[in-house]
Amino acid sequence: MAKKQFKAESKRLLDMMINSIYTQREIFLRELISNASDAIDKIYYKALTDDNLVFNKDDYFIKITPDKEKRILTISDTGIGMTKEELENNLGVIAKSGSLAFKTENEAKDGHNIIGQFGVGFYSAFMVADVVTVITKALGSDEAYKWESKGSDGYTITSAEKDSIGTDIILKIKDNTEDDQYDEFLEEYRLRSIIKKYSDFIRYPIKMDVTTS
Ligand code: ADP
Ligand code: MG
Repeated sequence: MAKKQFKAESKRLLDMMINSIYTQREIFLRELISNASDAIDKIYYKALTDDNLVFNKDDYFIKITPDKEKRILTISDTGIGMTKEELENNLGVIAKSGSLAFKTENEAKDGHNIIGQFGVGFYSAFMVADVVTVITKALGSDEAYKWESKGSDGYTITSAEKDSIGTDIILKIKDNTEDDQYDEFLEEYRLRSIIKKYSDFIRYPIKMDVTTS
């Protein structure tokens, strides 16, 4: 399984996230929940025009699972999932390179950090995680795939096992250093307050499942 390299612009954003001294690291959760919600929306809209697809409200939700012992935070959704090609195209490159250009340009213009104001997307996971694993199964597919990256040295895509359609984003939360504390992103009450702050408007249920290993 060969390691693939990120495209230059993606690598730039990725490096920015990994080395972020950004004080609002918590926004990674907003980004991942909004992606999960978008993925459920895609099924919802598909169901409106596809008679073979029924959108059963109870089947669609987002689940946040912190595991303190293992230092793993999982964000799962029952959304549309990604095919192997979509994994490659959506997570291997910045999906909207135009929006990055916009961000960078405006950042330079008004001279302050605008990461907090605009969506920074999936790569913001690297502000809090040193390994990001995505396990996903696309609607209409029998195969599941795993995308994994430790940061700017690239990513791998391999076959995986997953029963249901949707996506699990598995974050290996960084170890604390003298200057940086990451434990808060494994604390239930802290996660709940971040969710409340940024995701109040999400129209699918956000469940929390605390694992004690
Ligand atoms: P944006 O949400 O602005 O498109 P992101 O960097 O947040 O940019 O995500 C990139 C792309 O990766 C999304 O557009 C989507 O196609 C895909 N993606 C990310 N997370 C998920 C998910 N949970 N389920 C399905 N697709 C996803
Ligand atoms: Mg997004």
